[in-house]
Amino acid sequence: MHIAIIGAGIAGLTCARALAAAGCAVTVFEKSRGPGGRISTRRRDGAAFDHGAQFFTVRDPAFGPVAQDWAAAGMIAPWTGRFGRLVGESHYVAETPPLTRWVGVPRMSAITRRLSAGLDVKPKTRIERVARDGDRWRLTTEGGASTGAFDRVVVATPAPQAAPLLAAAPKLAALAAAAKMRPSWAVMARFAEPVRLPFDAVDVQPGPVAWLARNSSKPGRDGPECWVLLARASWAEAHVDDTFDDVAAALVKAVDDRLGGFAPVEAIAHRWRYGLLDARSGPPGVDAHLDPSGLGACGDWCVGPRVESAWRSGRAMARLIRESATPGI
Ligand SMILES: Cc1cc2nc3c(=O)[nH]c(=O)nc-3n(C[C@H](O)[C@H](O)[C@H](O)COP(=O)(O)OP(=O)(O)OC[C@H]3O[C@@H](n4cnc5c(N)ncnc54)[C@H](O)[C@@H]3O)c2cc1C
Repeated sequence: MHIAIIGAGIAGLTCARALAAAGCAVTVFEKSRGPGGRISTRRRDGAAFDHGAQFFTVRDPAFGPVAQDWAAAGMIAPWTGRFGRLVGESHYVAETPPLTRWVGVPRMSAITRRLSAGLDVKPKTRIERVARDGDRWRLTTEGGASTGAFDRVVVATPAPQAAPLLAAAPKLAALAAAAKMRPSWAVMARFAEPVRLPFDAVDVQPGPVAWLARNSSKPGRDGPECWVLLARASWAEAHVDDTFDDVAAALVKAVDDRLGGFAPVEAIAHRWRYGLLDARSGPPGVDAHLDPSGLGACGDWCVGPRVESAWRSGRAMARLIRESATPGI
């Protein structure tokens, strides 16, 4: 059975690995230069910023052994920083008991790089259309090229990008269209000197910044002091079309006004147009979806706004495909 997977984020790669391990031929199409999706790291002038997922947690008992394997393979390590929240003007409340937060080492993108190893991943290939061709499927790329034929197609992209690709399975397309995703702004700030703050990462209330983290305090990082600021979802939504420079300046100023002494030598913004599943629309309630025609959908939007949710959805998708296989395919 030959399977096409659109999207090399954690959901698509988890699905791809499980299917490849079961003996299927798998091709993964990814529009970006490399795998990872929202598990991503930007390198700049010796600094490395995890500007998508900051860390991940393990809540699902089935995910625990997977994380342990990744840790044993040196892909991830616990981030043992000083965590808490900032309340009122600038009151720091330390977290008790501390949550176990896992991060990729030496950067978040190491997770998806390692998961993609050995897979047939076609980078810089944006898929625009998925169409039936007899009893198989063909994909059309942005440049108009047609791919080979596939027995099953998995769309593992954020919901708004999935909906048009699922047009041949209208029920799935409607599910994806109903799952709303909110934009996120991340600001990557590099400093000449260590920042004198008594924490490594905080949830912040109230104001435009929701999360403030000393990226360089994560395990295995070297290079200069660098921080990542994430905007509050409501602020990101209201400022989604602001310029990158304006967003970087606004979020740095918000932190500096509150805490003082927050003066990076450089701050650059990154916009995730489809950042996080909107809790108000909620997931559709099933981990992954496979239409009887052989077109499927998975991704964090099927489960919840977390790395772990995307992993769970990708694993469920692989199981559905294996169960759908008929002898001879
Ligand atoms: C700023 C931010 C911070 C976050 N922090 C955390 C955190 O601390 N902890 C946590 O657990 N989660 C966090 N998350 C959420 C987490 O990153 C996601 O839940 C998870 O990475 C989603 O994985 P995915 O595989 O479902 O989707 P994605 O990672 O989005 O992967 C989808 C892939 O599909 C590709 N694609 C899209 N359209 C096409 C197309 N037409 N053709 C080909 N390829 C296509 C994309 O380029 C992308 O690589 C955060 C997210 C953001 C944005």
